[in-house]
Amino acid sequence: MDLGIAGRRALVSAASKGLGRGCAGALAAAGVDLVICARGTDALERTAAELAERHGVSVTPVVADITRAEDRARVLAAAEGADILVTNAGGPPPGLWSDWTREDFLRALDANMLTPIALMQALLPGMIARGWGRVVNITSASVRAPIDVLGLSNTARTGLTGFVAGTARQVAGSGVTINNLLPGMHATDRAVALDQGAAHAQGIGVDEAKKARAATIPAGRYGTAEEFGATCAFLCSVHAGYIVGQNILIDGGSTNLTV
Ligand code: NAP
Repeated sequence: MDLGIAGRRALVSAASKGLGRGCAGALAAAGVDLVICARGTDALERTAAELAERHGVSVTPVVADITRAEDRARVLAAAEGADILVTNAGGPPPGLWSDWTREDFLRALDANMLTPIALMQALLPGMIARGWGRVVNITSASVRAPIDVLGLSNTARTGLTGFVAGTARQVAGSGVTINNLLPGMHATDRAVALDQGAAHAQGIGVDEAKKARAATIPAGRYGTAEEFGATCAFLCSVHAGYIVGQNILIDGGSTNLTV
């Protein structure tokens, strides 16, 4: 399917690895020029070079911590005029509801709520003025069903979800859509870290922890960054203009819901 977005420009934050990279790769395959960022230089430059070479698009890497205002300003300067925004950042650490301090909550709110909101506030006016735009926020299945050890994620991401629910309906009339993608378990570094935590807590090996977790997923496996990215690229396509303010689970059926 021709996604109809070749030649457009996108900003994908936190995109040197994992789900962000999956989204950047699928957009590049659709002919979209990219600005991508991450804190570490090596993986970011490698990803930018690989995507540019494989897909013949322009990929600008910006070394930046997207949760810091001054870094974000540099990323936004490189991405001026972008019609597509995919927001992403690292997830908060696991723990227990009783452990977290005010500072822990503020860090999680900064990374997983206020940063995507700031990126939208910066790029939405231009999209509205041009009459076309797409925003996809990478959130989490924890928005639909809380994950015990990820209370910081449960909290910050539902705040973002509330912002998107209201804002998506205010900008839809200008040809701009905002939607959220909710990953369940995907085979990325983040999943390895979570499996290591589970293995440590249960006194078992990491492979055993991964196998046990995969067995709880109806699809019987972890998702891939590539299939996640393909859904993101579809939401950014010309075909998805009537999908507004939705929260789309990509979790292999893990979240046990009727609707
Ligand atoms: P990942 O494999 O650890 O990759 C994270 C990417 O984001 C890396 O490129 C990392 O590069 C970059 N990054 C992290 N923090 C950043 C920051 N502050 N500024 C700029 N770049 C940053 O993670 P993932 O699995 O793709 O997860 C992406 C998001 O989805 C996370 O918020 C995660 O909590 C959420 N999620 C993931 C899963 C899953 O199963 N994988 C499930 C539910 C939710 P640098 O480290 O070099 O900055």
